Amino acid sequence: MLTRAAAERLVSTVPTEPYLAGRWDSSQSADTFDVIDPVTERRLTTVAAAGAGEVDRAVSHARSALDEGAWGRTDGSTRALLLHRLADLIEARSEEFAILESLDVGKPAFEPRAIDLPQTIQTFRYFAGWADKLEGRSIPTGAYMGRPTHSYTVREPVGVVAAITPWNSPTMIGAWKIAPALAAGCAVVLKPPEDAPLTSLLLASLIEEAGFPAGAFSVLPGLGAVTGQALIDHPGVDKISFTGSPETGYKVAVAAAKGFRRTTLELGGKSPQIVFGDANLDDATMGVAAGVFANQGEVCAAGSRILVARAVYDEFVERLVARARDIKVGDPFDEGTTMGALINARQLERVSGYIKTGADDGARLVTGGGRPDRKGFFVEPTLFAEVDNTMTIARQEIFGPVGAVIPFDSDTEAVTIANDSDYALAATLWTSDVNRAHALARRVKAGAVAINGWAPLDPRLPWGGSKLSGQGRELGWAGIEANTEEKSVTAVLSYAPDK
Ligand code: NDP
Repeated sequence: MLTRAAAERLVSTVPTEPYLAGRWDSSQSADTFDVIDPVTERRLTTVAAAGAGEVDRAVSHARSALDEGAWGRTDGSTRALLLHRLADLIEARSEEFAILESLDVGKPAFEPRAIDLPQTIQTFRYFAGWADKLEGRSIPTGAYMGRPTHSYTVREPVGVVAAITPWNSPTMIGAWKIAPALAAGCAVVLKPPEDAPLTSLLLASLIEEAGFPAGAFSVLPGLGAVTGQALIDHPGVDKISFTGSPETGYKVAVAAAKGFRRTTLELGGKSPQIVFGDANLDDATMGVAAGVFANQGEVCAAGSRILVARAVYDEFVERLVARARDIKVGDPFDEGTTMGALINARQLERVSGYIKTGADDGARLVTGGGRPDRKGFFVEPTLFAEVDNTMTIARQEIFGPVGAVIPFDSDTEAVTIANDSDYALAATLWTSDVNRAHALARRVKAGAVAINGWAPLDPRLPWGGSKLSGQGRELGWAGIEANTEEKSVTAVLSYAPDK
């Protein structure tokens, strides 16, 4: 069993400065920020914050790496090799990544070990596979002024990509942005979250070892309002790939609109999990609980609206409550802990506020609602029953371990409630009827629908949503499209064969 003291010692091995132009670069701004452990509320480390000067240098170096440097001349098969090497290096140190993510985010390390790190490694390998397959098309075009034409397309990197990541799963979500962009030949400038920057800094330390040329990848730790804002405002950035809140997503969209620069925005959700009367309730209970409580509920795809057929409503609520009560909240480094702490005091206040609102609005608190009597930003796994879809706890993203259980009487009503949301990211259907599942999967408004399993992750599948959940897709072929421009080339042929 790994001890907290041993985990904390690992933090001192992680660099704490911006990484740009292929080296660690002490910030000239002299600003720093503390990284706080959500469990002990103690300082884990202090990191140098990149200021506007570092942002400018990182973007300029990224641009010259593309336009004049080695990165722009690197062919697809070499990019594939580099990405495979990076995946191997991450794999070799995946335990360090998992422990650091656990400390930084406050979650038990079994989650990053089982999900975030395997997904991160797979994502780099998957996109390594695309790097040398970015083919164009040959398109038969018409004559030009009586002359035959020959037309084809080529796929070119978008350019400098700013990647801005959130604190809930910074390693994996970082990989979702970095891997497709590097595979496409873009240069990436990453701004990790101030609450959890450690694994992004560890990743930067592997970049050179993997063999990426200077400027291909930079990491700029810092505050969102300073470093992040300077990055999204920088005219040298061609594309912004952002995951976080709709409020910040809006700022990203406004900054990007000034130069009509491209964006992908992944802004969370209020995803429904629909349990039909014929569902296997053992599977559904386990899956729904994972959907609402995994990662302390701090998941963009959290299935926090739990729609249950009236016929099985009481039984399902009872089962789900029992499951919630089995969760052991505590220090991720204590034996048996299955849920950690929320990221910071602000998030704790926010989640606690929603719990109070749920009770004030008349929803029935069936379990949780309180806080363990200890230090740290903990909150109990919480469920409300008899929730109406108009209540605040059914409409707003809570980003904590709080589920709202809503009854329904027919399939049509279930779909109507599911789609009555400002968000549209993910949905889960629990049913034994395969025909119902596929028919209703088409009617539910979401970027990803899972049947009989909550949010199965796979880098081959496109990921993203619509409405307040954002726009654009990461992962899969869509991840390549999002980081490339398709250029058409037409040659007018002046050659005329002898008559
Ligand atoms: P933010 O959207 O503010 O943060 C996400 C990222 O954006 C962080 O790296 C942040 O930096 C950065 N950022 C903040 N402000 C700016 C800016 N002006 N310009 C550029 N980048 C910026 O989310 P919060 O951390 O404040 O969390 C608030 C709420 O957002 C949560 O309660 C949750 O509901 C939602 N959220 C959704 C996520 C998702 O997966 N969709 C993930 C995280 C949060 P910094 O960390 O330094 O502030």
